[in-house]
Order: sequence, then structure tokens, then C-alpha cells
Amino acid sequence: MSAINLDLKDYILEGELLNIFKYPSPVLKKVADPVTDFNDDLKLLVKNMLFTMYKAPGIGLAAPQVGLSHRLFVLDVEFQREEIHNPDGDCEIRLSHFKPRVFINPIISDLEGEIIHEEGCLSVPGVYEDVKRAEKITINYQDLDGKSHKMEAEEMLAICLQHENDHLDGVVFLERLSLIKKNLLTKKYLKKKKRG
Ligand SMILES: [Zn+2]
Repeated sequence: MSAINLDLKDYILEGELLNIFKYPSPVLKKVADPVTDFNDDLKLLVKNMLFTMYKAPGIGLAAPQVGLSHRLFVLDVEFQREEIHNPDGDCEIRLSHFKPRVFINPIISDLEGEIIHEEGCLSVPGVYEDVKRAEKITINYQDLDGKSHKMEAEEMLAICLQHENDHLDGVVFLERLSLIKKNLLTKKYLKKKKRG
């Protein structure tokens, strides 16, 4: 993990702001295709995804959320966001403690335990709800060079990995709620979205 994280740090502060697709866009409901080409286009996409994620700001962003049906996502559950109020009334956003990660063709296994935590999603703005996830997982994935890795994760990182991995299977977090809650929140969300 360490080497790739260092490289990814160069990707944070510049890039192209990508359009984030909002629920119920069809691309968010599709099962994404595996990544097969580990080339410069992939590196550029990851760079722009990280840039877009930090700008949003969010702690994770999957390729389908930027309209691309590929099995990859980026995340950072550790960065800190600070609002600095200047004496002249301006507000500056300062980000620090970056730990960007990229997961390509991930496979989650060995789900253990249960944890309930409030989730939100850049593709479902304004909706936050408790979701039940596995507390501990194992994830196999490839890095930007196509090299395979295996990692165990728990708590916040495990939650985020499961949320992002769901996007690759065409699932948004609303689908993980009880039917009643899902219908209620979806109705409310769509009504608000229509109003703009
Ligand atoms: Zn999401």
C-alpha cells in the first residue's frame, strides 16, 4: 500500500473536475466491467476522480458515479477538512492528512460482524441514513500498475469499501435500507431533486 499512496498524493491538488452522476442515473444501476488496461488513461481517470472527490468533498468515489462503468473506486477516510475564516470575512477550505487509495477490480470476502453507521453518497445528495454493514472484511484488488494486493479492513474503512464496492454492482446505499425506509427516502429525494 505505501508506495502507491505516496504516488497518489501527487494527484490530489490538480485535475479536472468530473461530473458526478446523481441517482437515479442508469449508469448507477449497472454492473460495471472489469478494468483490463492499466495504461495512462487509467492513471488520468484516477487522478481526476481523486481531485473531484476531495473537491466535493467526499470520502469515496466510484467510477460509475462519474459515468464510467468500470470496476474501480478511490477513497480516503482519513483526510481532514478545515474551514479557515479570514479576518476579512473570506472562508478558505484547507485539506490535510491525505491518504488517497485506489482499488481496481476489487473483490470483498470474509465479511465478519456487524456495524451500523450513517452513510451519505455524492450521487444521492442530501440523504444520510444509518446502514448496516460488515464490521470487518478482506479485500483483494489491483493497483494502478495492475499489481494484486490483499488487505484486511475494519470499521470506517470497511464501511467505505463496502459502500464503494456496491457502486460497482449497481447498488446505491438506499438499496441497503429496509423497504419502508428506502421508499420513503427515495420519494423525498426525488421530490427535492425535481424542485432543484
Ligand atoms: Zn456512494
